[in-house]
Amino acid sequence: MAEWAQRDPVCVIPVATLEDHGYHLPIDTDVVIAETLADLAVQRCEGRALLLPTVTHGYTPHHMDFPGPITIDWKTFVDGLLDIGRSLFRHRFSRILFVNGHGSNVPLVEMAARLLMVERPEATAASFWYLSGPESAELLRSTRDSDSPGGMAHACELETSLYLAIKPELVQMGKAVREIPDWGSENVWMDWNDGPLSVKGAWSGWTESGVMGDATVATVEKGRLWLDRAVAEIAGYIDELAERAPRPGRDHHEPPWEEPR
Ligand SMILES: [Zn+2]
Repeated sequence: MAEWAQRDPVCVIPVATLEDHGYHLPIDTDVVIAETLADLAVQRCEGRALLLPTVTHGYTPHHMDFPGPITIDWKTFVDGLLDIGRSLFRHRFSRILFVNGHGSNVPLVEMAARLLMVERPEATAASFWYLSGPESAELLRSTRDSDSPGGMAHACELETSLYLAIKPELVQMGKAVREIPDWGSENVWMDWNDGPLSVKGAWSGWTESGVMGDATVATVEKGRLWLDRAVAEIAGYIDELAERAPRPGRDHHEPPWEEPR
């Protein structure tokens, strides 16, 4: 580990949650997807990145009406991520990339990454929600078959296709459904990138099956296409973080101060 730390690799940490994914997908969907994407990207960036074990449990209190999800209190979850980062810093690693596979983790993983950089200004910690960058969003837009917005939110065309590309034997396509809520708003909707106004609440208030989207149009071919893009996206972020110079800033309580204008 000391030798690895001297190389200053990007520590890649998949973060997920256990959560219901309709009748057709396994409960570990977010875990399997985040871990597979991160693993393949790290293999592509050999020597520049180190894959850490997946943080399996995340934040999902709004799913507890459905059988199976395990949710971690938001503060405990953020604190756990902070402790993982602090431990890595103690061992002289300085670059962390959280690969997040669960939508409701997004603000919390980002918070952890921010706080790690506040605590350790010479280090870099970043987080992202897979397939949400501009190039990925454009690929999804141009290759999806489901309605937009709404067809790609949860246990949907996207997640089902990805799981089909990874472990097809565990997907029960005969049980796949299409369920897109009536949003009742121009501003509130959920898709891979959500609408501008965030109104969440109980998941069971939006969907009967737990699916939000159209799982019936998922295919292994689309899964492979999107998986390749997701791996390339992560590999690109690893390359960037591996080269990124720190911007620790400086304490403006000390001189030199700027001349008053
Ligand atoms: Zn999911």
